Amino acid sequence: MNIFDLTFEQLTDYLLSIQQKKYRSTQIWEFLYRHRVQSFSEMYTLGAPLIATLEANFTIDYLQPLKTLTDSDGTIKILYQLNDQQKIECVVLNNAYGYSLCVSTQVGCNMGCIFCASGQHKKIRDLQSGEMVSQILSSQKHLNIDIRSVVIMGIGEPFDNYQNVLNFIKIINQPKGLEIGIRHITISTCGIIPKIKQFMQENLQVNLAISLHASDDKTRTYLMKINQAYPFLDLIASIKEYLDFTKRRVTIEYILIDHVNDQEEDAHRLINLFKNLNVYFNLIPYNPVTGVNLHPSTRETRQNFFNILKKAGIDVTIRNPQGENIEAACGQLRIKNL
Ligand code: SAH
Repeated sequence: MNIFDLTFEQLTDYLLSIQQKKYRSTQIWEFLYRHRVQSFSEMYTLGAPLIATLEANFTIDYLQPLKTLTDSDGTIKILYQLNDQQKIECVVLNNAYGYSLCVSTQVGCNMGCIFCASGQHKKIRDLQSGEMVSQILSSQKHLNIDIRSVVIMGIGEPFDNYQNVLNFIKIINQPKGLEIGIRHITISTCGIIPKIKQFMQENLQVNLAISLHASDDKTRTYLMKINQAYPFLDLIASIKEYLDFTKRRVTIEYILIDHVNDQEEDAHRLINLFKNLNVYFNLIPYNPVTGVNLHPSTRETRQNFFNILKKAGIDVTIRNPQGENIEAACGQLRIKNL
């Protein structure tokens, strides 16, 4: 088993079960996440017998980078190979607050959004928590950088791999380890309502982002298959419930696609739905995907859409196109290298 799969509590329970003292888990945790050793033999303070037991039962699995692409804007995309030869990708974003990593949660994705490269190939499997943790550790090592924030927005639907993603969040937030601030973690979902409700009950300070991408039910069903199971208005209701319960702001992601969802009436419908709610709109220029007959909105349309929302008092930003030249949109690199 990959030791990165274990939460701190699980590691402690394991050590207690083999008659080890509790403080050993902190020691091991620091070796893994602070000193970032890649073999148990480097955990010299544990003593030979415990090192041998760990070696017999666990591995320390870093991921193998297959390709690294750097865009002129500083965005870096890494293609990783997993132990079973499957491939996933990570995107490193360099922003004002330091390095941020966009983490994948599944090999492929079953959600089938028509604009998304990841959905062009069905899910092969879920990622283990440790494989998500390794994306951070391996990227830090590979690029010699320190990652301070994480967006769970890579390949896959995180709420379709709920428990592993939750454990991943616990592991990277754990003190004496990577200790990535809980408010520096954002999880993005296509709108699996029961999981949004479950996540709300976890009472974590993690940021939630919803991929909305439409202002009405029909358009959303056209773009996102998931809308048939969890319709637009039910999703809006669940966002309201989440806002009331957590008192935390929710991010609404909205890709602007030419003549699909970028008309003035779309902006006005959004205003009616979201005015006075504690949400923050992130308008994203559509990143074209080979084989998909959709186009980004023009610069004027984007700006106009932004202005209409802004004028109505909606908190909104337009994300600058990042990583366009390296096909950094969800899943684009992986499908080219299958
Ligand atoms: N499954 C999750 C997280 C992964 S996708 C979700 O749906 O939220 C991360 C974000 O990238 C989502 O908002 C998704 O809709 C968006 N995205 C996917 N393909 C894109 C593309 N070609 N251009 C711009 N954004 C894209």
